[in-house]
Amino acid sequence: MSLDIDYYELLEVERNADDKTLKSAYRKLAMQYHPDKNPGCSDSEARFKAINEAYDCLKDPQKRAAYDRFGKAAFQNGGPGGGFGGNASDFGDIGDIFESIFGSAFGGGGRQQRGPARGADLRYDMEIKLEDAFTGVTREIQVDVAARCEACDGSGAKPGTSTHRCSTCAGHGKVRAQQGFFMVERTCPTCQGAGEVIADPCNTCHGEGRVDRRKTLTVTIPPGVDEGTRIRLSGEGESGARGAAPGDLYIFLHMARHKVFEREGTTLFTRAPISFTTAALGGSIPIPGLDGKKHEIAIPAGIQSGKQLRQRGAGMPVLNGRGTGDLVVQIDVETPTKLTARQKELLCEFRETETGEECPASHGFFGRIREMWDDLTD
Ligand SMILES: [Zn+2]
Ligand SMILES: [Zn+2]
Repeated sequence: MSLDIDYYELLEVERNADDKTLKSAYRKLAMQYHPDKNPGCSDSEARFKAINEAYDCLKDPQKRAAYDRFGKAAFQNGGPGGGFGGNASDFGDIGDIFESIFGSAFGGGGRQQRGPARGADLRYDMEIKLEDAFTGVTREIQVDVAARCEACDGSGAKPGTSTHRCSTCAGHGKVRAQQGFFMVERTCPTCQGAGEVIADPCNTCHGEGRVDRRKTLTVTIPPGVDEGTRIRLSGEGESGARGAAPGDLYIFLHMARHKVFEREGTTLFTRAPISFTTAALGGSIPIPGLDGKKHEIAIPAGIQSGKQLRQRGAGMPVLNGRGTGDLVVQIDVETPTKLTARQKELLCEFRETETGEECPASHGFFGRIREMWDDLTD
């Protein structure tokens, strides 16, 4: 396919743009319209192909000169000096184009090597408890992945037989074809780039070199991991076709909600309601740490609601590092709601002794209220 838009317009550059500008404009747009980022969107795919076509032309000084003079006619049948056949917009499949330009930037098949594509990277989502993130933990997981076929050792050829060199591409995996003025290299259609063909395919994997298999893997989770931490299990992704390198398996970690603690990086945070007597007289409250120890948090007499108390080193460990964060306890003073007759009596007695000096903030506030009232009623 081909969008009929001027190459310079497609790449959003001036006609005199230099190579560097072209390249960065191209990269930006290719990222934006890459099919992996816009799955199922045929408009994006069309644009992506058109952008590739435009860049492929303009990056080459010869082609660019031809384009500047003759436009797209330079690359079509019967164009100036043409008559070579082929179609400039037919650049093979998207994967090929992308690989040749970006290498492995997008993973999963982006290796610049002859032969079938590397296996895809896989993702596995795992939820762990805060306690496990604190200590680190080892987990066994089961994944169903395309694994190397053992019957043929990944070759795809029936055991005892062998593959032989592809006659279409003479084992190169690529073929050259004339397109307009130019020679272009494409993946060999006979062997799909492997360079070899299988005469007698393996019965187990039907020539694919891989079969679906349930694998049990051990994942070591270090202390200090957090929501979104990824752990890479190298080579544990999908096996490549016909013995090509496997992809990687990425474990994406998620943190389960904890009963008591919230977490912000290495800081553990909790709210502790305390009685108004403890707030007034002082005391201490025990907070169990994830380290299994009890931390006695000292409450100074006269503490107010909202005050945060910090216990150094009682938070989460630093991932791959030394040291630990802090535990922060936010105090909420609780007003009693169920008093016995005796307790009420004691509080009434206490109130009779109040001068206002015990509570300077409220004393000050009501003092200002009084003044305001006096000013208004003078
Ligand atoms: Zn096999
Ligand atoms: Zn071939």
